[in-house]
Amino acid sequence: MSASHDRDRPYWNMQIEPFLDTPQLRDLQLHRLRTHLARLYEGAPFWRERMQRHGMQPRDVHRLEDLGRMLPPCRKHDLREDVEKHGTIGSMERMIAAPMDELKLLAATSGTTGEPTPYPFTPAGMAVMNETWARVFWRCGIRPGDRILHGFGLSMFIGGVPLLMSASAMGACPIPVGAEVGAERLLKIGQIFKPRVLFCTPSFAEYLIEAAPKAIGAPVSSLGIRIILSGGEPGAGLPEVRRRIESAWGARLFDMGGAGGGSCDWHDYQGMHNVAVDGSIFELVDPETDAPIALEDGARGESCLSTIIGDGSVGGLRTSLGDVMEVAMSPCPCGRTGFRYRIVGRVDDMLKVKGAIVYPAALDNLIAAFHPRVTGEFRIVLDEPPPRVTPPLKLKIEHAPGIAGEALAQLEGELIERMRSELRVTPAITWLAPETLPRTGRKTDFFERNYR
Ligand SMILES: [Zn+2]
Repeated sequence: MSASHDRDRPYWNMQIEPFLDTPQLRDLQLHRLRTHLARLYEGAPFWRERMQRHGMQPRDVHRLEDLGRMLPPCRKHDLREDVEKHGTIGSMERMIAAPMDELKLLAATSGTTGEPTPYPFTPAGMAVMNETWARVFWRCGIRPGDRILHGFGLSMFIGGVPLLMSASAMGACPIPVGAEVGAERLLKIGQIFKPRVLFCTPSFAEYLIEAAPKAIGAPVSSLGIRIILSGGEPGAGLPEVRRRIESAWGARLFDMGGAGGGSCDWHDYQGMHNVAVDGSIFELVDPETDAPIALEDGARGESCLSTIIGDGSVGGLRTSLGDVMEVAMSPCPCGRTGFRYRIVGRVDDMLKVKGAIVYPAALDNLIAAFHPRVTGEFRIVLDEPPPRVTPPLKLKIEHAPGIAGEALAQLEGELIERMRSELRVTPAITWLAPETLPRTGRKTDFFERNYR
């Protein structure tokens, strides 16, 4: 087989990926689950105590469904409780069935509500991560030798150095610029080093479009980037945002993350394919009752993931990802394997306005559809802790330059009408001048919180 032919193969891992949707894969999952449970029971006190508290032993698991029947989802507060008792290092140690001196890398979430959640990597954990991302990268068209302009935040963030190491491990050549240095520096480095791929959040990709003419005297399309791999925000799955980014950059936009997957090359967004079915078990549960929700086309629920390979340093058991997801189990028109999921919103971001359930991501897409009459930036004003919102839902939205008077009134009428028909809410809109709201280049906080 010639090397060039090999670069055209559909999957990174031709031994596993063609078979992700087969019954044999379920047998492999069960075998790996049982082995993994035994390993954690033996070597990871946090998970052993959790199993004991719920009266289960690894040997009780005979079918994949048994896991969900025996263990409740593991949520942020469960992890926080353990950290309070044992400290961050102590708690981390309790979750991994390997000695702490095997750790090769320690990242963390930004911790929007205070304490950062650690992401430790042992060699086994790194292998799990590298394999998953290599599969995602390959499906986006990234190949060994490709230069990647890395525009995610580099500091601590899981999409920073860890992702960069995975890209390097699969043979690509990441350029570690990072979002922290700002748009101008990133664009200039792009101009000099001519990358084929860009990693960054969708909102940063949009911001770079605005910033390029001033920063490098040319549009972003001049950089020659062909693939943008985004994550951390829903943008790539939002048709309007996606259209805007792809046309301005002259590139294909993909997203990744959530549950070990990435989106495919199909012209309409089909969600993300889970590429790691052999190494994980994905479930949906009702966020209020914990009841399992059957995985079938259109099913929605809080997503939980169990990693069933490695030593516990990557993943957990029925760990809530904090996202409400919708799945599609039928084959994707793109022909690639792996069931699909899309992120509907954060469980914590869910708003209830009278009977209607509204996610900021849905508002984001709807407002973005009014581009170029709006800038796309907006905030939801909360006067009380979510999810409850006493109507009307208050929004601050930036209009585009030159939109005023009659044109603005017309725009407001259309926006309210679409929100009423598509989301079943009638908002009260406060209009802001363009560039009023701060641009962060990171995951946008959609909320302006006016309560203590
Ligand atoms: Zn697909």
